[in-house]
Amino acid sequence: MMDLDSIGFPDELLSKLCAKTPTLWINEKLGSSLNPSNTPLIAEIETAQNRLLRSRDLLITLFPELEQTQGVIESELVELSQLQQHLDPTYHTQHDQKWFLKSDHALPIAGSVKARGGFHEVIAVAEKIAIENHLIEENENLVVLASDQAKALFSQYSIAVGSTGNLGLSIGIMAAALGFSSIVHMSVDAKEWKKERLRRRGVKVIEHSGDYVEAVEAGRKEALSNPKCHFVDDEQSILLFLGYAAAAQHLAAQLKAQNRIVDKEHPLFVYIPCGVGGAPGGITYGLKAIFGEHVHCFFAEPVASPCMLVQLASGQDTPISVYDIGLDNRTEADGLAVGQASYLVSPIMQSLLSGVFTVSDTTLYKNLHMIKATENIELEPSAAASLHGPVLLSQTDEGQRYLTDHHIVTSHATHIIWSTGGSLVPSEEMQKFQKYGEDVYLND
Ligand SMILES: *Cc1c(COP(=O)(O)O)cnc(C)c1O
Repeated sequence: MMDLDSIGFPDELLSKLCAKTPTLWINEKLGSSLNPSNTPLIAEIETAQNRLLRSRDLLITLFPELEQTQGVIESELVELSQLQQHLDPTYHTQHDQKWFLKSDHALPIAGSVKARGGFHEVIAVAEKIAIENHLIEENENLVVLASDQAKALFSQYSIAVGSTGNLGLSIGIMAAALGFSSIVHMSVDAKEWKKERLRRRGVKVIEHSGDYVEAVEAGRKEALSNPKCHFVDDEQSILLFLGYAAAAQHLAAQLKAQNRIVDKEHPLFVYIPCGVGGAPGGITYGLKAIFGEHVHCFFAEPVASPCMLVQLASGQDTPISVYDIGLDNRTEADGLAVGQASYLVSPIMQSLLSGVFTVSDTTLYKNLHMIKATENIELEPSAAASLHGPVLLSQTDEGQRYLTDHHIVTSHATHIIWSTGGSLVPSEEMQKFQKYGEDVYLND
């Protein structure tokens, strides 16, 4: 184990994390604006947004069900007044404070937030290959990528990823649809329905006897030995990050449409479940670029897997994992069971993230039940991690201190809970989640 004293990890925090006590950690290094060293990314977010706009006809051709949304992969922003009434003790006295759900659990085709980053990366790789082979020029409508000629070209290439879950679904489905040889490395204990679904789409699923990390390593190694194979690297992919960041602009338009202003008197709070950090980090970056100091982003992590919290709280650039502080990374939230935060994302979050809170598995399931019972919305356990974020902010000493220190008045605040997955979970599995959630809720 690492010598934690030498890196100045606060004792009190350490003992809470080790005891798996749910904790709200506030980031003292939060800055007031984007760090100049990473502002060049803003132009790249625009490039990503444009790429997604140019792929609308392509997506409709590949997935006719996207006709309804004109090829846009987006999710609804829905008010959560029933849940808010249930959880927020100040509900009846603060009528202008509102909770919303950003419904990425229902994103088309992939059914999770991974549709954003994953589809963007696969499309960007396909576009690059097509340009190199003179099939299209830069900034062209990407519908050409669905032609027989393009398919024949892509069939000479493969796209690989190591994932136990939603990233595998997103990458695998899109790569296969474009005609790539599509390979997803999984551990044997990954969910059978996910493997099934991928195989039905023509994806090659390779099972590894070890754990998730071994599956990823095996995939990476194989891909690196083949110049015609692109490996999607969840730990450091900029293309994934930009795909997630592109969500911010659409959300800004949705807030406007709901007449929700964002400024000093009308702060915006966003709560997002965090695994390796790519999805919540990209979204946070995109939102900070638009709303600056008026948006406050918090991540939610399982008590056994607080990898981003540990990395940021250590204040170090050198990697530190949840295993280094003696945690086991075992949680029901399979989308969040990550021991080491992304090397790309954690340094960027150091000055942008307001804080991280940890969640017990019991609370995940309680949340899962509560949003079903109040709003009739079904989520997977990972996606339920951030549901009680607004309550933590108003009801804990740490949350109160954050508000005071930053001179924030919340009476006109907008709170967005980001739901990250669930709509592809088979109903039999979902019923089990719900049943267990209800039991936990009633016995608490
Ligand atoms: C992947 C995932 C997340 C977190 O995304 P990271 O990029 O791993 O941080 C959250 N929720 C669900 C359901 C996911 O699949």
